[in-house]
Amino acid sequence: MKHKPRKPMVPRTAQETTRQAIVALLTEGPVSAKDISTAVHLPEKEVSSHLEHIRRSLHATGAVLAITPAECRACRFVFAKRDRMTPPGKCPVCRSEAIDDPLFSIRGVQEHEPD
Ligand SMILES: [Zn+2]
Repeated sequence: MKHKPRKPMVPRTAQETTRQAIVALLTEGPVSAKDISTAVHLPEKEVSSHLEHIRRSLHATGAVLAITPAECRACRFVFAKRDRMTPPGKCPVCRSEAIDDPLFSIRGVQEHEPD
């Protein structure tokens, strides 16, 4: 066999449709998993797995899934290292549970922000 076995692409599954809807939301601007969850009627857990998938598939196109890290509202601690899609439950510094959710958006290849 010369080719690696590939899963056949299933056209227009419910999953695909949902993913496209999520991509559309991400393209429009920064949204939290909660926002997406509300918009596409999926639990946040499933939204997170879609986000993981989207992040990986975007890689091939050159676009990126930009993540604004979660931030503690009480002490402004930024959860910068946290690379997960789910928001942290508690601030490790002040133990506050008032955490701003991480925000996600899709950035094209051209947009290059100095960082
Ligand atoms: Zn804090």
